[in-house]
Amino acid sequence: MSDHVLVINAGSSSLKYSLIDGRSGKATASGLIERIGEDEGRHIHHGPDGDSEVTRAIADHEDALRGALDAFESHGPSLDGIDLAAVGHRVVHGGSRFGAPALIDDELVAAVTDLVPLAPLHNPANLEGIAVARRLFPDLPQVAVFDTAFHQALPEHAYTYAVPLAWRDDHGVRRYGFHGTSHAFVSQEAARLLGRDAADVNVIVLHLGNGCSASAVQGGRSVETSMGLTPLEGLVMGTRSGDLDPAVPAYLTRELGFTTTEVDRQLNSASGLKGLAGANDFREVSRLRADGDPGARLAFDVYCHRLRKYVGAYYAVLGTVDAVVFTAGVGEHSAEVRATALSGLERLGITVDAERNQSASTDARFISPDDSQVAVLVVPTNEEWQIAREALDVVNA
Ligand code: ADP
Repeated sequence: MSDHVLVINAGSSSLKYSLIDGRSGKATASGLIERIGEDEGRHIHHGPDGDSEVTRAIADHEDALRGALDAFESHGPSLDGIDLAAVGHRVVHGGSRFGAPALIDDELVAAVTDLVPLAPLHNPANLEGIAVARRLFPDLPQVAVFDTAFHQALPEHAYTYAVPLAWRDDHGVRRYGFHGTSHAFVSQEAARLLGRDAADVNVIVLHLGNGCSASAVQGGRSVETSMGLTPLEGLVMGTRSGDLDPAVPAYLTRELGFTTTEVDRQLNSASGLKGLAGANDFREVSRLRADGDPGARLAFDVYCHRLRKYVGAYYAVLGTVDAVVFTAGVGEHSAEVRATALSGLERLGITVDAERNQSASTDARFISPDDSQVAVLVVPTNEEWQIAREALDVVNA
């Protein structure tokens, strides 16, 4: 058996896949299939001989995955020649049930189905990807890797909301946290860069993509994280508000007659950078800000202020901090966000070296000066590799 894992990330109208060596992290092929179920879908396959693109109507996830297998056949690498070890599935919500990746069987499918009310947009799509892959690869082990699992280590005082007992006990209302595969990968990489064992370091991870989340990782275990019952809580994101007074939805319902569904939709899809600057893509916000747009200026300020607030809070949670780590699209690329969010924190031992911060390198790297008490790092995340290696660990256990 090889160490190759086919990693599948099924969204409601998309399916991403990559063929990855779980040991080395080398990806031999990957692909993105979009607009599933629409009149015209798009499939891009990145193979050893370059990229190929097909536009066609893609009926459903099964049609999509069959298209991916065809692409492997015609553009390589042929899956026949690879003794796949497993199929690894990204699953968004594992609730309190899953604190580790798990082999997929009917019981797991039923448990993930039970969790649909907690992740109504994500879990059904993940389940669809699982169902299709089980049909197409009936003889391969399939492993579910949960976005929430890394944060199942949170202590009770960190995951508990101060709400009535029945909400907590009967309805699972608590902090779960998301982006766990990224926080796990990045915190391990940070320890590697520091030349230390993950069990010996404390890091604050700032995952800043379209969705954004922070975590405090103590000795390799997540002890606090900013996303909650759902991915809405915490930092300012592309289209999500992050933290706000929990009374705001009731106020809008009462005063404006909004339905709770509408409030939820606007907090998830029309808020964050989009609500403040009219654009959810950070590069667009940066362009608008450079042109002097007041909404974009405010968006940048609110975004960085929220980050700084979380860094301070998580510093206090951890007591000692070895590194602050930036990852994902904005974290990896915006020197301005990194510098602004951490400016003035020298008394906490946090310093950013202006020249290192501006480097265009795409490698994992230090952006703090050599003598900084707290290292500041940029670490490109690699969720696919993390899923592949966790899947391998499960099948080899
Ligand atoms: P996802 O959460 O979808 O995985 P990514 O990690 O790809 O998202 O991050 C997407 C965000 O990163 C977008 O807001 C995008 O504008 C931002 N981004 C990507 N490249 C850059 C860049 N060079 N400078 C600033 N922001 C960037």
